[in-house]
Amino acid sequence: MGPVLNARFVTDMVNAIAEVHAGKGPAVVGTDARTSSAPLGRIAAGTLAMAGLNVIEVGCLPTPAIQYNVTRLRAGFAVVVTASHNPPEFNGLKGIAADGLEFTPPVERAVEAAYDAHKAPTRAYNEIGHISVDSLSADRYLEGITAQVDRSAIARRNFRVVLDCGNGASCGTSPRLLASLGCRTSTLNANPDGLFPGHASEPTEANLKDLVESVVRMGAHFGVAHDGDADRAVFVDEKGRYLPGEKILSLCAREEVRTAGGGLVVTPVTSSDSVAEVIAPFGGKVEYTRVGSPVVTRAMMETRAVFGGEENGGAIFPRFQLARDGAMTLAKVLEILARSSKPLSALIDELPPYFLVKRKLPCPSALQKQILGQLPSLFDQGQDAKTEITTLDGVKVRDSRGWVLVRPSGTEPLYRIFAEARDPAVAEELASSTMKRVEGLIRKASSSA
Ligand code: MG
Repeated sequence: MGPVLNARFVTDMVNAIAEVHAGKGPAVVGTDARTSSAPLGRIAAGTLAMAGLNVIEVGCLPTPAIQYNVTRLRAGFAVVVTASHNPPEFNGLKGIAADGLEFTPPVERAVEAAYDAHKAPTRAYNEIGHISVDSLSADRYLEGITAQVDRSAIARRNFRVVLDCGNGASCGTSPRLLASLGCRTSTLNANPDGLFPGHASEPTEANLKDLVESVVRMGAHFGVAHDGDADRAVFVDEKGRYLPGEKILSLCAREEVRTAGGGLVVTPVTSSDSVAEVIAPFGGKVEYTRVGSPVVTRAMMETRAVFGGEENGGAIFPRFQLARDGAMTLAKVLEILARSSKPLSALIDELPPYFLVKRKLPCPSALQKQILGQLPSLFDQGQDAKTEITTLDGVKVRDSRGWVLVRPSGTEPLYRIFAEARDPAVAEELASSTMKRVEGLIRKASSSA
């Protein structure tokens, strides 16, 4: 993914995907709302057809809606043109397997090898695939979601909701979802526009000031926003508080474990301790993984987890599908509210009071590995008897005060630092002191490089 994703790159990469999936059509092609997405989607569809595969174009839809339709359309795979929450000049390709999950690592490696070998399958005129358009994918997805929740219980409550689509891929789906669940909805930025005129596509607190303000002004029950490809949903409670992703993750985890009568929840090492704490009384246990939704969804499949997700607003409801899904999360939060007599703020305030602090630290990509090797030595001093070190992804150190995690970003030249404690001052202190020590390591490595 990067600012230089052009027509030639898409042709070459899609040819490589076609080579690996020869004879495994039809292929679904869908896109987000970026300015380059529809053109690149057409190029992808044309390239696949020229490689002998039948293609079903589903148009601009949330990534989870495209994933859902891969199985419904009995497709062999899908190509999604999206750069999620990134700035408008970015774009990317996401490969989805026949089961609706992201390509497995072996398939990814095969595609990379075919790309490096410049494989460009050519077919005779009578072997070229045909391209059809499916206009029912959004309906199918929305019907699938509403079938997962208690529609009449939600509709009876007549919820007032402010929805911020961020000019992204959810514009054609989430407003309809709320209408079908009987909500009175006010929308913000609900026209698809790849220039993201409303605000930047990442649903951070700083980008959602209008949403916060609208929720309070309209007296709404809550506000919700999606990122650009709507695999995430973030929430604002009726008091106008932006809710950190781990709060909604804990709320949903508890509900899913409670209704399933126990079970496993899969989440990365970056997640709050509150997830494990709130599911324990209902017989739930957490399985921690490395960071990244493909890792989480595969682990959920293998362990038959009842719920999973990340602390950034990406929740996964496996009874619906093994994909991060913003609209499904929205429907579930409505159901949780409908089953309770309490406002969202009260449900959030009942959760264990953990504070998760997230920081980032620039680090040249070339130095990331070297630093990673030196991290455990940072935590040798000053340990109390309860210190535990986990190296599942980066280095996570837990002691009696809380935990801190240091891990290199997989996509950017930086280190991410997470710290969590029950006391916000302790969490800040853990993050700051760790940040200083890692900064020292990076400085030392840069000067000797
Ligand atoms: Mg996304």
